[in-house]
Amino acid sequence: MYRSHTCGELRISDTEKTVTLAGWVQRVRKMGGMTFVDIRDRYGITQLVFNEEANAALNEEANRLGREWVIQVTGTVNERYSKNQNMPTGDIEIIVSEMNVLNASDTPPFTIEDNSDGGDDLRMKYRYLDLRRACVRKNLELRHKMCIEVRNYLSNLGFLEVETPMLIGSTPEGARDFVVPSRMNKGQFYALPQSPQTLKQLLMVAGFDRYFQIVKCFRDEDLRADRQPEFTQIDCEMSFVTQEDIIQTFEGMAKHLFKTLRGVELEGPFLRMPWAEAMRRFGSDKPDMRFGMEFVELMDTLKLGTFPVFDDAAYIGGIVAPGCAAYTRKQMDQLTEWVKRPQIGAKGLVYARVQEDGSVKSSVDKFYTPEQLIALKEKMQANPGDLMLILCGSDAMKTRKQLCELRLEMGQRLGLRDKNKFALLWVTEFPMFEWSDEEQRLMAMHHPFTHPMDEDIPMLDTKPEDVRADAYDMVCNGIEVGGGSIRIHDPKLQAKMFEILGFTPEKAQEQFGFLMNAFKFGAPPHGGLAYGLDRWVSIFAGLDSIRDCIAFPKNNSGRDVMLDAPSAIDDKQLDELCLKIDIKE
Ligand code: ASP
Repeated sequence: MYRSHTCGELRISDTEKTVTLAGWVQRVRKMGGMTFVDIRDRYGITQLVFNEEANAALNEEANRLGREWVIQVTGTVNERYSKNQNMPTGDIEIIVSEMNVLNASDTPPFTIEDNSDGGDDLRMKYRYLDLRRACVRKNLELRHKMCIEVRNYLSNLGFLEVETPMLIGSTPEGARDFVVPSRMNKGQFYALPQSPQTLKQLLMVAGFDRYFQIVKCFRDEDLRADRQPEFTQIDCEMSFVTQEDIIQTFEGMAKHLFKTLRGVELEGPFLRMPWAEAMRRFGSDKPDMRFGMEFVELMDTLKLGTFPVFDDAAYIGGIVAPGCAAYTRKQMDQLTEWVKRPQIGAKGLVYARVQEDGSVKSSVDKFYTPEQLIALKEKMQANPGDLMLILCGSDAMKTRKQLCELRLEMGQRLGLRDKNKFALLWVTEFPMFEWSDEEQRLMAMHHPFTHPMDEDIPMLDTKPEDVRADAYDMVCNGIEVGGGSIRIHDPKLQAKMFEILGFTPEKAQEQFGFLMNAFKFGAPPHGGLAYGLDRWVSIFAGLDSIRDCIAFPKNNSGRDVMLDAPSAIDDKQLDELCLKIDIKE
């Protein structure tokens, strides 16, 4: 046995016990004839004391220790003279009588402390050292706890956890596939699952009734702060259910997780909002409902003036930033530059301040009468001291999205996006299809297995772009934390869906014949959902990026800088796989 206790365990009640601890040297302080060493493991930090007078050789050895050396010590628990209230073991220290150096360490490239001096790249390169920091480790502990709570909640409801394979064919979720060449089947490739969508549906055909899996999914797409090429989903499917049944089950799960992981009781049923309403009021299918600042449509109000920029606008809309009328000219110029950045893409920003006397002073004063500006203020329900921010554009959807970004930015600046406040809602009635300019065809907005809303089925042939899906997303604080749908279980409807999506019958058969065939053998009505585990953990932990709750994440270019992956492979391996590399610059 290397140790009798962990480094986070001993308390004042253990005084005078002889104990053995093992762990890493956090720091060494020499004070006169005494040497203090903090020893750390996953559980905490304990102070060790070496006394020159009592044992000069041992004290000298302690002074030779470096940061991150691995040591084992035996000694007596002693009540500290000056206690440290900030640490659980702060009432005691260990008077060391024996020490064994288990391993030396090079000087770490950054300090292993919550406030580390290491930049992102360095910490990722030495992620195993980064993971020694309590603040990072805590996120993984929370993740572990979340997985346990998910398993408890779902098992209690009769869900079975079933593993599905990683080496499969394409399961489209709107991203590119990661592919794996097969050595035994030359010239052929597996695709890693973008999700286990088709497999979980087959489990329903198999009569499993309620399935879940905490599962890795792989999507080759451009990375953003909340995206990783591989990520974890809590993937679920149920048979003989309606949308309402699924919403009840998974709203219950969200409440259970908030209660057990954050001690937060979420009241009442979550808000539900049809997609079209979310787009109209917030310009987003994942509105951040922690604050208001709803869009006000201003086509009627602002087309009355002579401002030429509004002439060919298909959408003019604004938000009211409360109390921001005092923004200086410089701040307004900066905000205008901000909306014009390529990431946002607005052409400009119109603004109007409501003065203390109720009059309005705007950047377009010369195109409007004072009465028209008062009408604007009234339409936007702006008060003295408020700032009205207005965007316009010839593409209504794009302009709404720009206004959405501006709303989020203003919400951030005004401190309205509090990490300790949680606003959850379901967004429903998504469009079934969206037009892809790149592919020049309709694409499934969710995925091709989604059932249309029953009342919209007759429009599949006539007006497919107006068909709504029996699909739902759960949104928390402006982040999509999960989504799913009722599925098609009728082989004819599924074939029709592939046809609308531009698959020839042969192509549909080749790629998804297995599913349509299975539907011929008594497929029950079914539906499901997947929650993004990483996103949930980052919300519970108050993190800005999902990277911080993943043990070994990839960077923004999809690289693992620690493993230096991806990397080239040997010619011999390429030959075995019948592959040739031909990079066109
Ligand atoms: N497979 C879907 C996804 O990964 C979730 C679902 O429909 O259950 O987004």
